[in-house]
Amino acid sequence: MIEDLIKPNIKALKAYTIEATPCSIRLDANESPYGFPLGQFRLPTNRYPDPDARSLRRFLAEKWGVEPECILHGNGSDELIYYLLTAIGGPALIPAPTFSMYRIIAESLGEKNFMVALDEQFDLDMEPMLAAIKQNNPKLIFLSRPNNPTGNSFTYGKVIEIIEKTGGLVILDEAYQPFSTRGDSFVDLLPRYRNLLVMRTLSKIGLAALRLGFLIGDKAIIEAVNKVRLPYNVNSLSQAAAIGILEDEKSIEKGINSVIDERDNLFAELSELDGIKAYSSNANFILFKLNINSPLTADALHKKLIEDDILIKKLVGGPLDNCFRVTVGTPKENAAFISSMKKIIEETNK
Ligand code: PMP
Repeated sequence: MIEDLIKPNIKALKAYTIEATPCSIRLDANESPYGFPLGQFRLPTNRYPDPDARSLRRFLAEKWGVEPECILHGNGSDELIYYLLTAIGGPALIPAPTFSMYRIIAESLGEKNFMVALDEQFDLDMEPMLAAIKQNNPKLIFLSRPNNPTGNSFTYGKVIEIIEKTGGLVILDEAYQPFSTRGDSFVDLLPRYRNLLVMRTLSKIGLAALRLGFLIGDKAIIEAVNKVRLPYNVNSLSQAAAIGILEDEKSIEKGINSVIDERDNLFAELSELDGIKAYSSNANFILFKLNINSPLTADALHKKLIEDDILIKKLVGGPLDNCFRVTVGTPKENAAFISSMKKIIEETNK
């Protein structure tokens, strides 16, 4: 049987699924509702892209106050997670729940990984975290801050303690940092900790189509991870468009600020709904949970929202059972979502 040729760890792996249900209001993938036109970037199609994305890395280095040699470019940060696990390897320590690609990539590469549950507030649970570090000596620790899908930021001091106590590398995944408190990034701490790496993406601030992620950190580590990077991993259009679009800082900021304002409105409105607990968020999405005694089931809510042409992400597993993650959209999209939620809850309670 040709299926027998497939590696056992790949056979056992459940693929990362992306919901394809067509809905006009898509609040399921943590994208920005505000995009930018791409048509004006005219490039020759016959030439390979700059393999080292030099202009883009120089541009970002200035923005982030680091040297270009401290930045590695990826086809989205997903690719950088893959490169890290390829170049450094496991064991990897991963909190749970968090972004599922850390575990999926570790497993696809046959690298050991172990999960440590977050506490009731979805913060790092220090006793088991430190015990796991001592016992397993992880080479990589993945911390999404703010965390996907819970939306909270792990306590700053706890993260510092982990960086200081581990002999491994700590990857601070700051995909959602632009929506969090100003000055709360770990980029400023890079000169102090050689074992700290910060990961950034442009996907959440309106450039998801470009697939651009970055790893920032110690030159020696960046150089090592760069050895496993595929030659032309970031295409010419993405390199040129990122610089062109990011130069217009005002427009980027406007989109981010609108999402922050709308997130706070959405949180207030979700909190008012019967039978729902909303979790406060520092990201561009909100986690909410259906009361287990509610007559409305998670499956029914998901289906009814789709009938109203609205797609949000239904979560499963342990503390995420009965939970949903809704991405902050435009004011109009958020209003449509809240109005649909109200209608569905009212109908169920009749
Ligand atoms: N990290 C986190 C925490 C994410 O939520 C996501 C996207 N869902 C990514 C990384 C991957 O982002 P990218 O589009 O840059 O691959």
